[in-house]
Amino acid sequence: MVLPKFAFFNGRILPYEDTRVGLLTHALNYGTGCFAGLRAYWNAEENELFVFRALDHFIRFLDSTRLLAMDFPYTPENLRDHLLELLRREGERRDCYIRPLAFLSEETIGVGLMSLSPALSIVAFPFGKYLDREQGAHMTISSWRRIEDNVIPARGKISGGYVNSALAKLDAQRAGFDDAILLDSRGRVSEGTVANIFMVRRGELVTPPVTDSVLEGITRRTVIELARRELGLPVVERSIDRTELFVAEEVFFAGTGIEVMPVSRIDHRTIGVSPVGEITGRIRHLYFEAVRGKLPAYRGWCEPVFAGAVRAEAGVGIA
Ligand code: PMP
Repeated sequence: MVLPKFAFFNGRILPYEDTRVGLLTHALNYGTGCFAGLRAYWNAEENELFVFRALDHFIRFLDSTRLLAMDFPYTPENLRDHLLELLRREGERRDCYIRPLAFLSEETIGVGLMSLSPALSIVAFPFGKYLDREQGAHMTISSWRRIEDNVIPARGKISGGYVNSALAKLDAQRAGFDDAILLDSRGRVSEGTVANIFMVRRGELVTPPVTDSVLEGITRRTVIELARRELGLPVVERSIDRTELFVAEEVFFAGTGIEVMPVSRIDHRTIGVSPVGEITGRIRHLYFEAVRGKLPAYRGWCEPVFAGAVRAEAGVGIA
C-alpha cells in the first residue's frame, strides 16, 4: 500500500509521519473511534479527480461521532473542503481511497467516554480494487452474528464494531471463501463484512432495511436510486431469509471499497445462471459511469478536486 504524504489532523495539514499516536491512546485500547471510507476517481478525459458523494459520507461520519458522544466544530461542508484541499496537496492523478477517522486520542485508562477529547484526521492514498473478482465472489454465511443496534450500532462505522467483520472474514478466508455474509441476531441476512447486500428475486431488487443491523451505506442508496431511475426496477427494502439468497436470480454486494461486486456462489451453491447476472451487470456499469462523473444526471454526486482550486482562487465556491 502507498502511504499518504500528508494528513489533515486536528484542523491542519501535516506531513503524514508527524501524526503518530501513543500506545495508551483510548481508541487504540478500547476501539472508541469511528471512521468513513470514500473514493476519489480519476477521469482521464477531463483531467480531473472526482470525490464520490463526499457530503453524504461526511454526514454519516458526523452521525457516527455523535453515537460516540464526540463533539466537533465541523460541518459536512467544512470536512469536504478540508478533504479537497488535502487531495490537492497530495496531487494524485489516479484513483484514491480516503479515510476520515475520529477517535478518543487521550492517553488514559478507563472506558468512560465523558470528558475525553477527540481527534479527527483524514488521509488519502492511491488505491485500486478491494477484491479482484470481476466474475463473482464466493461467499460463505458466517457463524458469527452481526452486531445489533443494542450491542454496537452497525448503522455507524464504529472502529470497535469492525472486530465483528474481521472475525467473520478471518474464518471465511481460512475456509477458502473470498468473504462472508453475516446474519443478524434473529437469523436474517444483514450484510457483508464491508458492504451492503442486494438480491434480485422475480425481477425485484431486494435489500434489508436499515433496521436489520446494517450500515446505512452510501453505495446502497446509490444503487437504489440508479435501479429505480435508470432501470425502472422495483426496489424493496425488507428482511431477507438466508435461503432466499440460495434461490435468488442474482446477488451482489455494494460498498465504497468493494464497489458493485457480483456474488457467484454462496457456500458452494451457484447463484443464478451466469457469473454476472444481467441486472447486476447493468447496475455495475451505471455505478462505474456515475462515480467518474460520466452521467450528467448524477454529476452533482462528484466533487471535482482540481477545478475546485481554480474556483477557490477566483473567490468562488469553497473557502
Ligand atoms: N456495510 C459495512 C459493514 C461497511 O463497512 C461498508 C463500507 N463502508 C458498507 C456496508 C458500505 O457502505 P458505503 O456504501 O457507505 O461505503
